[in-house]
Amino acid sequence: MYRSHNCGELRSSHIKREATLSGWVQKTRDKGFVIWVDLRDRYGITQLIFDEERSSGDLLEKARSLGREFVIQVTGTVIERASKNKNIPTGDIELLVSELQVLNEALLPPFTIEDRTDGGEDIRMKYRYLDIRRNPVKDKLIFRHKVAMEVRKHLSNQGFIEIETPYLIKSTPEGARDFVVPSRMNEGQFYALPQSPQTFKQLLMVGGMDRYFQIVKCFRDEDLRADRQPEFTQIDCEMAFVEQEDILNAFEGLTKHLLKEINGVDTGDFPRMTYDEAMERFGNDKPDIRFGMEFGELNAQAQHRDFNVFNTAELVVGIAVPDGASYTRKELDALVDWVRRPQVGAKGMVYVKCNPDGSYKSTVDKFYKQEDLAQWAKTTGAKPGDLICVLSGDIHATRAQLSALRMEMAARLGLRKPNEFAPLWVLDFPLLERDEETGNYHAMHHPFTSPKPGQLELLETDPGAVRANAYDLVLNGNEIGGGSIRIHDKETQATMFKHLGFTPAEARAQFGFLMDAFQYGAPPHGGIAFGLDRLVAILGGQETIRDFIAFPKNNSGRDVMIDAPAPLDETQLKELNLRLDIKA
Ligand code: ASP
Repeated sequence: MYRSHNCGELRSSHIKREATLSGWVQKTRDKGFVIWVDLRDRYGITQLIFDEERSSGDLLEKARSLGREFVIQVTGTVIERASKNKNIPTGDIELLVSELQVLNEALLPPFTIEDRTDGGEDIRMKYRYLDIRRNPVKDKLIFRHKVAMEVRKHLSNQGFIEIETPYLIKSTPEGARDFVVPSRMNEGQFYALPQSPQTFKQLLMVGGMDRYFQIVKCFRDEDLRADRQPEFTQIDCEMAFVEQEDILNAFEGLTKHLLKEINGVDTGDFPRMTYDEAMERFGNDKPDIRFGMEFGELNAQAQHRDFNVFNTAELVVGIAVPDGASYTRKELDALVDWVRRPQVGAKGMVYVKCNPDGSYKSTVDKFYKQEDLAQWAKTTGAKPGDLICVLSGDIHATRAQLSALRMEMAARLGLRKPNEFAPLWVLDFPLLERDEETGNYHAMHHPFTSPKPGQLELLETDPGAVRANAYDLVLNGNEIGGGSIRIHDKETQATMFKHLGFTPAEARAQFGFLMDAFQYGAPPHGGIAFGLDRLVAILGGQETIRDFIAFPKNNSGRDVMIDAPAPLDETQLKELNLRLDIKA
């Protein structure tokens, strides 16, 4: 038996009892006549003691030879500690060791395995198994497990069945690039890894499994943005015989359950907002509503004066930054530089200081009177002492830029509090989205999303105006879930494909199986998928998802630990009938 207890278990109630522990040597303190060893496992740390008085010379010698991260087994008696450590649960006791066995030696780890390590990100990723021994990483993995368990518990209690769907499939419709897998047995043919189980879960609805969920890996070959992973986990869900309202209720229920069980937070009913409203008020379809700084549109008040920059803009819009009037010239210049960074992309920024005495001082005093600026203050909700930041230009870009500024200012002002939770449903997304470059429309959600009732006709005349039965669940400015009510009849689906630029033959080749299934009694259905990695990170009060994933990939999509992706050898390539013209 390797252990009778774990390293986080022994307390003063165990004093005088014998115990056997196994674990890793965290550190050794050798005072000559006495040696202390901190023994660590997943559950905690227990102090071991060897001393001249009570331990044999051999044993002391053996203890002295222990290196960091050696794996050892010890047996001894639990005794009261002379000087107690209030910081750890086992701090009242120590184990007076009578037997010590080295189970495995260890090389000196390339970074210290402590809560605060000296290891940089790269080295910790390369030796991720060592990083996992550290509390900050280990605790996050345990936290993730807890969230996943609560998801399974809640959904099972609501009658959902977890069903696995295949990974080796055909191209899926989420709009990213597929990862593909060559088929050895079918020369020249490839599987695609699912971007989501979308088509399969819809087929499960046709199959009568009217409440499905799955905690499932999805794969999207996208250019990696910060904190995105090429493989990630979804809580994927689908229900039959439901309307949008049913879905919103079911998954608001799940989210409330998680906030309650995991964070001990009771949120009231989630507010709802249409996509259009979110864009107008926050310039963003996933607004962080933990704080204000709402957009004030200033076209009516700021245009048709002599300020040409505003006159030629599609949108003039501002926010009031609390207490910003006290910024120095230098700070304000830095702020203007910030919005002009290529990542934000504004050409410039007009600002108005709302002085505490009720007067205004702006960068456009030449063009606007005090009464004008007072109007701006009213529209943006600026109070004396605030700073109004105004951007202008075309609607899309300007909203995105001001939204970036809003988030940045909120972060600087400490308004994005990790322990405050502000969920929000965003509803009525556009059905289609126009590709800026090609001018073509593609499905904003995916091609199976149904248009709002009565809007199908609009597809012919004004495709951009069609709204969908599509919804996102937003938490603290992050999209944590998204879904839609689906099309469930063949004709509407065919119309959709046509508008998305598929020829009937292309639609058939790619999604014929689904259109066929719709002819065999497809029930009305809809669903949603949550990004589990992100959800877990937010519930855990963190911004980055990486630490909540046991073995994440880096920003270039590499696993630096196993060194993947990697070339295949000739034999493998031959077997797969693949020929590489590019020489590595
Ligand atoms: N398949 C969708 C996605 O991955 C979610 C859904 O529509 O249920 O975003």
